[in-house]
Amino acid sequence: MTPTTSLSASLDLGLVRKYSVAGPRYTSYPPATRFTSDVGSVRIEDALAEDNASPDRPISLYVHLPFCESRCWYCGCTTVITRDHDRANAYLDYVEKELALYAPYLNPHRPATQLHFGGGTPTFLTPVQLRRLGAMLHKHFTFAPDAEISVEIDPRQLTLAHVEALRDIGARRASLGVQDTNPKVQAAIHRIQPHSLNEQAFAWLRGAGFTSINVDLIYGLPLQTPETIRHTIAEVLALGPDRLSVFSYAHVPWLKPTQKIFDKTGQLPDAEQKLTMFATAHGLLTQAGYIDIGLDHFARPDDELARAQAAGTLQRNFQGYSTHAGASLYGFGMSSISSTPEIYFQNFKTLAEYRSAIDAGRLPVERGLRLTDEDRRRRTIIMRVMCDRRLDYAALSREFGFDFAATYAREIASLADLEADGIVRRTDSGLTVTPSGAPLLRIVAMRFDPTSYGAAKQHSQTV
Ligand code: SF4
Repeated sequence: MTPTTSLSASLDLGLVRKYSVAGPRYTSYPPATRFTSDVGSVRIEDALAEDNASPDRPISLYVHLPFCESRCWYCGCTTVITRDHDRANAYLDYVEKELALYAPYLNPHRPATQLHFGGGTPTFLTPVQLRRLGAMLHKHFTFAPDAEISVEIDPRQLTLAHVEALRDIGARRASLGVQDTNPKVQAAIHRIQPHSLNEQAFAWLRGAGFTSINVDLIYGLPLQTPETIRHTIAEVLALGPDRLSVFSYAHVPWLKPTQKIFDKTGQLPDAEQKLTMFATAHGLLTQAGYIDIGLDHFARPDDELARAQAAGTLQRNFQGYSTHAGASLYGFGMSSISSTPEIYFQNFKTLAEYRSAIDAGRLPVERGLRLTDEDRRRRTIIMRVMCDRRLDYAALSREFGFDFAATYAREIASLADLEADGIVRRTDSGLTVTPSGAPLLRIVAMRFDPTSYGAAKQHSQTV
């Protein structure tokens, strides 16, 4: 498949303003908000056996490591706040038991092509604990020689010994949580992180042979202005990241009570200021030569993500954009999500429930969703919009075995307003998201998502 849009999107603030509504981020379709405690009639064990019927299908692994020493007030992650690092030992005991519960249902010969440690703060674990976790996973899975092992890093919780442990268990990719380098913003969000820590982390990681380093930034935080964003991006670009994620702060105090602090301090920027920050970040990064991959992700033109987007092989999974196609995802640890072509399932979100299921000898799955044939077709459509920014009606008709344009005529017709505003172009053979529509991919995808209506409170703003 060839790309049909310019890789570097321009930004029309008027359009972004007009279409900024709450919507899913489409790390999955259907989104996790639709998971229920009734996973259907199928047992997870049967779903895993079904998945093993394709022995060559690769496996992507995820381990959730929830601990953080203190809570950042903006945070939307599933965390456990503690300064007691021994608690990670007890947690690893449970992850080990969880792996043992899964072992009878795993095919150890299927290649593990990806492993991601997320959190929380994975580097809350000591180097010894990280090595133990690496050994546990290597015991249960066969890693492909070029497996992509990545880790989320908090530069405040990093030593050279952590980096060496991560390197020794095969990690070559890191994602650094930076958010903002301005000390006043850091005080307002309860995350003090001198920039020297970011510089030190980069030096250690590059020295250890990490080939891809991502930096996470957030806009829309208290006391941020376009000027603080400009300064943060200048400092971060000087570090030479391969990728950047520039997330919109999602203010959802009804879901994340800690965020109520921001309503009391009254320091949050308004929607218009936030849009200006987004425009500032977008302009600075694209001018610096980074490609707008979509949904807040930017990458160097020679980065695998940018190359996958150009080649039409980009994927999207629970960790965001990915170059690994067709893998089943197996998640371990509290709150982690797994997916096979047929089913999504998620572990309990609290430590107590996660532990008690394992103590009872049960897989610690709380909820999930068995996909219908129509869910799978909608997933294909939405992922192609999100990754390729185009739909090829003939290709989709071949894949689905019926006339795509006739079956989804209502959805295609619903794009008229987006076409009038220059966000998409429609022809008889397909539709293309224009460069100015690239920051609004979610809006286009939502037109093919019958579940997106009326679910606004469960999702963040699209920009
Ligand atoms: S370190 Fe990361 S996961 Fe932990 S509270 Fe802060 S933002 Fe959340």
